[in-house]
Amino acid sequence: MNDPRWNKIRTHMNEQNLDGLLITEPKHVGYLTGFFSNPHERFLGLAIPKNDEPFLVVPALDLEAAKASSSVPLIHTHNDTDDAYALLSGWLGSGHQTFGIEKDHLSVARFERLNAALGASSYRDVGNVLNALRAAKTPEEIEKLRRAVHLIEAVLTEGLKQVRVGVTEIEIVAELEYQMKKLGAEGPSFDTMVLTGDKTALPHGNPGSRKIEAGDMLMFDMGVYLDGYASDITRTFAVAERPNDESVKIYETVLAANLAAIAHIRPGVTLASVDAAARDVITEAGYGEFFMHRLGHGLGMDVHEYPSVHGANEEQVTEGLCFTVEPGVYVAGECGVRIEDDVIVTADGVDVLTTFPKELTVIG
Ligand code: MN
Ligand code: MN
Repeated sequence: MNDPRWNKIRTHMNEQNLDGLLITEPKHVGYLTGFFSNPHERFLGLAIPKNDEPFLVVPALDLEAAKASSSVPLIHTHNDTDDAYALLSGWLGSGHQTFGIEKDHLSVARFERLNAALGASSYRDVGNVLNALRAAKTPEEIEKLRRAVHLIEAVLTEGLKQVRVGVTEIEIVAELEYQMKKLGAEGPSFDTMVLTGDKTALPHGNPGSRKIEAGDMLMFDMGVYLDGYASDITRTFAVAERPNDESVKIYETVLAANLAAIAHIRPGVTLASVDAAARDVITEAGYGEFFMHRLGHGLGMDVHEYPSVHGANEEQVTEGLCFTVEPGVYVAGECGVRIEDDVIVTADGVDVLTTFPKELTVIG
């Protein structure tokens, strides 16, 4: 197969002297073969022997679906009564001494079963190769991400119509998740978060029965899956009236940090420096200790994926990278503000996928 993804896998196998490798993370299997499936507890794997053709191993009940979508023509099946690892070892044949696996994904129990069947003398992690491949988005992937972002923005527009004093956080969540499905999403890309008042100071708070009050800050953090790709945006609003001066200052600081980070992004700078561009603004405003998380994370087939955008990541920003820019300030007992955009790195700068306005807005 003369596909850039496969060429990089084969090159890595040669460089690392791998006799074979096994991909088990279901999205990675899909990324390389076109067959996307959630096998639950059953075994699903893509095996790539060094000197032989690759093959898929799927539960027997998935054979027809795999045949319909897999670019890898050789497909083996196992039944619920089989030992899939013993079968796999037989199909791989002998001579697999140095073997590649995804150490982030293969549980200890599954590794022990694989090792008992295969008996390789050393196992190398190939997770980084897959992460690096996935990080470089193709034009088709970028358009899927853009559509996932635009869909969640349409959901936010609908959800804001339901905001008024006295409505609870969870009632807003219900409306938002209804709109996600109604507007065509596969579903939320993570648990939809709507927080109001002093609960906005909890970066990972849980929506509940708290009612929206006049003067509250109101935070939405949410995303959808659309066509296999995730969005993840945050907007924070004021409800019914202009919030107090402290809340306004926090908001303007976070917005300035978000804009400073975006202005800094281009190929060649480090991810650490992108984090610093935002963090410096917040620190100078006196809120440094209240920005207690990284600036962002990679986004793609998973809502959190490689790379991590934090102050110790000296990896370079590269064209095609998609990540979130989400500075926040959280003052316990007062309020929190986060503004999260999804961006794509272009040849000479950045393409901000998120289009929803960011100026402080009073709603409801
Ligand atoms: Mn988010
Ligand atoms: Mn995020």
